[in-house]
Amino acid sequence: MTMEYTCKIDDLGRVLIPRDLRQSLDWKIGDNLSFRRIDDVIALRIAKADKKSECFICKKPKMKVRINNKDVCASCLEKVMIMMAK
Ligand SMILES: [Zn+2]
Repeated sequence: MTMEYTCKIDDLGRVLIPRDLRQSLDWKIGDNLSFRRIDDVIALRIAKADKKSECFICKKPKMKVRINNKDVCASCLEKVMIMMAK
């Protein structure tokens, strides 16, 4: 699949990744990205996390909090808290 967009680099060097492009890739706010320059092209992808930094519950490499020596992502933590409150 090829999707093409244009955007401006703002005065702080930032670019906005269009929402539908982020959604098509399932990129979420807070995800870490890695850049790879290949000649005059920059490839962007979700940064690979090492096994140790995956969420203990869903195994996804998301931003996490550490609980009882286990990394748990915010969405799993929220689900657990909702279950505990019932
Ligand atoms: Zn999780």
